Amino acid sequence: MNILVLNCGSSSLKFQVIATDLELIEKDGDRQLARGIIERIGSQSLITLEATGKPAVRQAAPLRDHRAALDFLLRWIVSTEAGIEGIRSMGDIHAVGHRVVHGAEKFTRSVVIDAEVIKGIEDCIELAPLHNPANLKGIHAAREIIGTGVPQVAVFDTSFHSTMPETSYLYAIPYQLYRRHKIRRYGFHGTSHRYVAYRYRQIMGAKRDEVNIITLHLGNGCSICAIKNGNSVDTSMGLTPLEGLVMGTRSGDIDPSILEFLMHKEGMSIPEVDTLLNKQSGLLGISGLTNDMRDLLAEEQEHQDRRAKLAVDIFCGRIRKYIGAYLAEMGGANAVVFTGGIGENSPLIRQRVFEGLGFLGLDIDDSLNRTMTGGKEGEIGKKGSMRIMVIPTNEELLIARDTVRSVKNAPRRW
Ligand code: ADP
Repeated sequence: MNILVLNCGSSSLKFQVIATDLELIEKDGDRQLARGIIERIGSQSLITLEATGKPAVRQAAPLRDHRAALDFLLRWIVSTEAGIEGIRSMGDIHAVGHRVVHGAEKFTRSVVIDAEVIKGIEDCIELAPLHNPANLKGIHAAREIIGTGVPQVAVFDTSFHSTMPETSYLYAIPYQLYRRHKIRRYGFHGTSHRYVAYRYRQIMGAKRDEVNIITLHLGNGCSICAIKNGNSVDTSMGLTPLEGLVMGTRSGDIDPSILEFLMHKEGMSIPEVDTLLNKQSGLLGISGLTNDMRDLLAEEQEHQDRRAKLAVDIFCGRIRKYIGAYLAEMGGANAVVFTGGIGENSPLIRQRVFEGLGFLGLDIDDSLNRTMTGGKEGEIGKKGSMRIMVIPTNEELLIARDTVRSVKNAPRRW
């Protein structure tokens, strides 16, 4: 089957086309046929399209909304100019898999989309006001353009964490608030943590219930996950992606009283404080320079910028604190695994995270660590250390595979 994987943000649309089916999944024989991104939807959009094995095509075009962007994309996918193997017309796209950010307690696994599922995703909008509406735009656009005969599947960022016990997901606030409003930890990046756990199992030749690892997804957004017997038992993001680790522009954990204090001292409204914590904090907020880790490390090294160093130190320190906490919570683990743009590409950050953790049996091998960049997968721990690994994430592949499985199991249509 040719699966179109869509990840729609508020003004962007990322996609991949992946050829896969149940047999190919079994043999790890899935093939990526194309990928790309359309950014700045709503104005002069920037479009990057790449058929696998061919040079990327970059262009600009005015695309007013997600429907126009998807229409543009599908015209390219079926065109002779793209020349994608096995795809000549819309009929060659057999299913669409969507990344959906919030599935709350309602969606604990991937599902074929029908009217009821759409209603369910709409019900989750209040928990993810920025993300779910964009995901829904992608779903509606695909239905309008590709038609109702092609099944679509929703794969949720939250669902991998639905195995967390109450002791991890409840906040220590009046219990009725959980009952009444479902205020609890949901966690995100679930598709990434799940993919990494799956690859770890494959590499180690382990059974699912033998997977006891801590996974670190470090990209623009960052989260850490405690995986015990193959299941997520705790994770650092909460009701929303704001909680936990320090991120590019998000604060991660803070004392909630800071909100009221800020409102008084700075005369800020609640939405303004929300923007401050989500968009102006984290690495950007501390450094005052940038939310981009690569640029921050360059500032630190080339200009000895004090606040750039401080931002990186706080970032690494927070991760270290969580690793200790999760090791205690899990009663030990077999491995710590890095993924995401920073986790996969920055030996320096990985090294700084493990500074002083030798007493826990976590020791980085400097030469292995240095070479593990640019999509490489492997071990970076010293002999005798607990396993420390880098496993590049592949959320799109997992979405494509879930799409195939969901469609085969429940070939329900609109
Ligand atoms: P997203 O969360 O948007 O998918 P990515 O996973 O691509 O983002 O991660 C983006 C982050 O990865 C940026 O902060 C970027 O600077 C960082 N990054 C990418 N390559 C490197 C590198 N070689 N060294 C340090 N940071 C890097």
